[in-house]
Amino acid sequence: MKVAIYTYSSPESLRIKELIIQGLKQYRIQYDEQTPDIVISIGGDGTLLSAFSKYQDQLDTIRFVGIHTGHLGFYTDWRKFEVNDLVASLRNGTGQSISYPLLDMTAKFSDGQVLHKIALNESTIKNITKTMVCDVYINHELFERFRGDGLCVSTPTGSTAYNKAVGGAVMDPHIIGFQLAEMASLNNRVFRTLGSPTIFGSENVLTLRLADESSVVLTCDRDKWVLDSPSHHLVELTFKVSDKKIRFAKYRHTNFWQRVRESFIGDL
Ligand code: NAP
Repeated sequence: MKVAIYTYSSPESLRIKELIIQGLKQYRIQYDEQTPDIVISIGGDGTLLSAFSKYQDQLDTIRFVGIHTGHLGFYTDWRKFEVNDLVASLRNGTGQSISYPLLDMTAKFSDGQVLHKIALNESTIKNITKTMVCDVYINHELFERFRGDGLCVSTPTGSTAYNKAVGGAVMDPHIIGFQLAEMASLNNRVFRTLGSPTIFGSENVLTLRLADESSVVLTCDRDKWVLDSPSHHLVELTFKVSDKKIRFAKYRHTNFWQRVRESFIGDL
């Protein structure tokens, strides 16, 4: 087994990283950042998003483990004082994992360029200077013309992140699908959208075609692109369930609904 550690350079994170490396040496587990079997992220959910982005091309062979240095996260099961237990679990583990669906995003630009990414949380498209106007196609058929601040397309595990903040539903992560949530849509006698978050199944394709060439900000998890060049404007976004999944090593895995309660409701 080969293990990599992904973290930022805060003194606390580096201290935990060093403890894990000592434990790996003790059990003769190889440290390898290039082609690991296990990636341990130390930080918060945001850090795990960055680790996911770094190892996005190796999802078939990698399992992730999240250690949180602050509060319990959605992708981080281990607390920083449990490092010894974690290293022992690595040594004794049987390769079990739990997997969750991801979102496949393809962006097409006016100059013919294509950007393809996989999101763990979500992809958003926003116009920050004026009303965004875009046509929404479901399975290649026009469904509605959206006018508003923007749109958020999230995975089931990402449903507790930005999606929730813009009024989307929290989704059980075992549902294979994705969700579209509106950001401040214009709804009146002239302009109309469905106006509610919409959940799509695994066979559905969602296409967003921008109606004009104005500048927009496109995001995919922590990645952001400010698209304001007239010669390279965004024309179309396509979303579907990715054929890849994220796998978490199942040495321990906190129940999803327990996390939702702990994160958003607290003690009863
Ligand atoms: P970030 O600092 O990495 O994340 C912002 C907050 O979202 C952090 O508190 C993070 O938790 C939390 N978070 C991340 N994934 C989550 C999940 N699946 N469920 C619940 N909470 C989650 O910010 P960033 O670098 O700008 O963007 C990363 C993510 O931030 C995006 O994927 C988006 O979901 C989220 N975001 C949210 C809003 C909003 O709620 N209005 C706005 C922009 C972006 P940790 O503290 O554990 O890292």
